[in-house]
Amino acid sequence: MTAHPSPTPALPDELRSTPRTSETSAAGAGTAPTRVLVLNSGSSSLKYQLLDMRDDSRLAQGIVERIGEETSRLVHTPLQGGGGAKRETTGPIADHAAALKAVAGELTADGLGLDSPELAAIGHRVVHGGLRFTQPTVIDDEVLAEIERLVPVAPLHNPANLIGIRTAMALRPDLPQVAVFDTAFHTTMPEAAARYAIDVETADAHRIRRYGFHGTSHAYVSRETAKLLGKTPEEVNVIVLHLGNGASASAVAGGRCVDTSMGLTPLEGLVMGTRSGDVDPAVTFHLKRVAGMSTDEIDVLLNKKSGLVGLCGDNDMREIRRRIDEGDERAALAFDVYIHRLKKYIGAYYAVLGRVDAVVFTAGVGENAAPVREAAIAGLEELGLAVDADLNSVRSDEARIISPNYARVAVAVVPTDEELEIARQSHALVLALGSSNE
Ligand code: ADP
Repeated sequence: MTAHPSPTPALPDELRSTPRTSETSAAGAGTAPTRVLVLNSGSSSLKYQLLDMRDDSRLAQGIVERIGEETSRLVHTPLQGGGGAKRETTGPIADHAAALKAVAGELTADGLGLDSPELAAIGHRVVHGGLRFTQPTVIDDEVLAEIERLVPVAPLHNPANLIGIRTAMALRPDLPQVAVFDTAFHTTMPEAAARYAIDVETADAHRIRRYGFHGTSHAYVSRETAKLLGKTPEEVNVIVLHLGNGASASAVAGGRCVDTSMGLTPLEGLVMGTRSGDVDPAVTFHLKRVAGMSTDEIDVLLNKKSGLVGLCGDNDMREIRRRIDEGDERAALAFDVYIHRLKKYIGAYYAVLGRVDAVVFTAGVGENAAPVREAAIAGLEELGLAVDADLNSVRSDEARIISPNYARVAVAVVPTDEELEIARQSHALVLALGSSNE
């Protein structure tokens, strides 16, 4: 297996005492099971991937959408041995339990049933782990209760994640179910970066602090960037720019996150597809007092009707670039605001880190939008940053450097892979538990 940040040395006691399941040896004498099913459960969707950790290969992937509606849709793609044709089914899928059963049926049809002794664990993406969960964690009743306790700080995400976990636990109660938290990578942030400068008692009473999100991606991408540079994660300082529909930046020093742009919720920081990112908090008072908006309306405005969509009506960077090419001024303004914010965070994290080895772009926009990368780095030559136009214009799924040879700091594009990271972390934990129980 490839390098891993290893949650193994610091396993908390409660994990050590977790009973070993019969699955660990069920695959045959001396062979630990190697497959991990990764589940990402949203309020009305269930995304999944089945991976084989012997070579990190994907055996199958898919999504169930519009769960609870008449027009639910399951799209399943077999991937083993060169892959097979995509299979699509539509029709009512009442709830997540029915969705997971439908997924299990598809996997069984591929000879990959969830009852297979090859399955080592189910890894769940959990958005908010608060301060408690700094590592991937085997889920038991107490862990479930703690994820539930965090619902007030992640009202959109944790309930949906919990539904997925409970459904999977009901289906395979004997199998280790591992929670991998979006916030975990950021728990290394120093207090200076994690604290808001508000009254300490009020903040602590309501657990108000900067948690950060997209941590699985920042962890994976920062490590892959070190590999690309031929170094260990401990040797490099990296600024990671995760630019998808949601977007966040992080400053990673020697493999540890020291700052990140999202805060108590995923609203803070960069301009995103539909989220504003940083605004003066007084904007909310103003909207309430002067515009007469309710708290819920302001919530929707800032989370769903702002960012690129608020500025120009589109949140897809491809469409925005097309409109700019046609001379559309609003699209140009949206692009400029997006880039300005991004540049400010690059500068800020450069200062936080002191020395930077690489600035790396990832996720939908970061991996695909050459004009965004070019514009974000433009004018930063004094910081040792530059983009080579030819390298930047290459389209590729591979991790690659796009800065010229002479540049002091590497600029890189590294495709993110949150599912692989969740699978790796889940599998490593299950192996560690297995060996600690031997
Ligand atoms: P999510 O946050 O939903 O996981 P992704 O990381 O998949 O998002 O990013 C989705 C976004 O990536 C799209 O909204 C679009 O703006 C952008 N994107 C995808 N492909 C391209 C492309 N070829 N060129 C420019 N932008 C792209």
